[in-house]
Amino acid sequence: MSSADCLFCKIVAGDIPAEIIYESESAIAFRDINPQAPTHVLIIPRQHIATINDLDDGDDAAVGQLFKAAKVIAAAEGFADDGYRVVMNCNEAAGQTVFHIHLHLLGGRPLTWPPG
Ligand code: AMP
Ligand code: ZN
Repeated sequence: MSSADCLFCKIVAGDIPAEIIYESESAIAFRDINPQAPTHVLIIPRQHIATINDLDDGDDAAVGQLFKAAKVIAAAEGFADDGYRVVMNCNEAAGQTVFHIHLHLLGGRPLTWPPG
């Protein structure tokens, strides 16, 4: 369920500090250490899943909770109606650097499209 050398598993375990702002049965969310918007939160499953490519049928509920968390946090941060972005990078070409899936929640400023 967890990977010994995974940074985000260590945050789930409490071994590395993070500003955790949301917790549910299978997900937690904390502020990104290098924010790209006024609000930049990472929403992750408690269980270790390295990339989207590693998802199994049994992970459907855990992934659903990531989006439920995004909805709740966007409302709490005050930009649910204005708009916000959620994005998940998969593997190197998309810029994934931490191999424990995480939904980026970005809000609090206008966001351009397409992303770089
Ligand atoms: P990605 O490039 O999609 O894998 O995103 C990884 C994200 O994790 C980046 O936005 C980093 O700024 C963020 N990050 C790395 N280490 C930490 C940490 N210790 N606490 C919070 N965010 C982190
Ligand atoms: Zn992990």
